[in-house]
Amino acid sequence: MYPSDFAYAAPTTLAEALQLLSQNPEAKVLAGGHSLLLAMRIRLMTPPMLVDIGKLSELRGIQVNGNVSIGALTTYRDVETSRELAERLPMLVECAANVGDPQVRNRGTIGGSVAHADPAADMPTVVLALGAEFKVVGLQGERTIAAGDFFVDMLQSAVEPGELLTGITIPQMPAQMGSAYEKFKHPASG
Ligand SMILES: Cc1cc2nc3c(=O)[nH]c(=O)nc-3n(C[C@H](O)[C@H](O)[C@H](O)COP(=O)(O)OP(=O)(O)OC[C@H]3O[C@@H](n4cnc5c(N)ncnc54)[C@H](O)[C@@H]3O)c2cc1C
Repeated sequence: MYPSDFAYAAPTTLAEALQLLSQNPEAKVLAGGHSLLLAMRIRLMTPPMLVDIGKLSELRGIQVNGNVSIGALTTYRDVETSRELAERLPMLVECAANVGDPQVRNRGTIGGSVAHADPAADMPTVVLALGAEFKVVGLQGERTIAAGDFFVDMLQSAVEPGELLTGITIPQMPAQMGSAYEKFKHPASG
């Protein structure tokens, strides 16, 4: 199927993106598109406008100093290949490496995965277990949401219309504590 008609904008600054989202509260943020475009093609979602945040390079990257901060546009591949994360948060790296196939991992973003709030997805479970905090911005300012409050319902996160998730912060794990991620693949998804 084809998506219903929609307008498209590709802002080059965060301020511009927030203006667009605030003026068009039914607009959807487009990151890697690996969940959103599928949902639009089966018309599960019919947003009148897409705000493509792909040009906001400041939202991509991993910073480690005590806590770990991951920008919303950071891809699974960025996480999978991060040596610092492999040392500090192996569970996150194992999780990213087990998502889909290389195309999905090269395009799919951490922000998109958690904002989509699919209970069957890998990354939401892991960031919930790691006690992540989610940074969200809108024209009214910035707020931080705890993992336990972020996933509201199936396909519903705590990101409000007009807001954008900019990144997540994962607290440093206590010394002597380890982590691992084991994925039990559903036979039907072969
Ligand atoms: C073939 C295939 C295999 C897959 N296999 C797996 C798998 O094994 N495990 C798994 O967990 N997932 C899997 N997925 C899903 C994929 O991992 C997710 O679709 C992807 O990570 C979502 O990120 P995205 O950047 O593509 O988000 P998009 O599709 O662009 O967006 C998803 C949703 O999040 C919103 N959004 C995105 N970014 C932001 C933001 N910064 N702020 C606010 N809202 C935002 C969008 O508006 C949309 O509602 C698979 C997908 C495909 C196509």
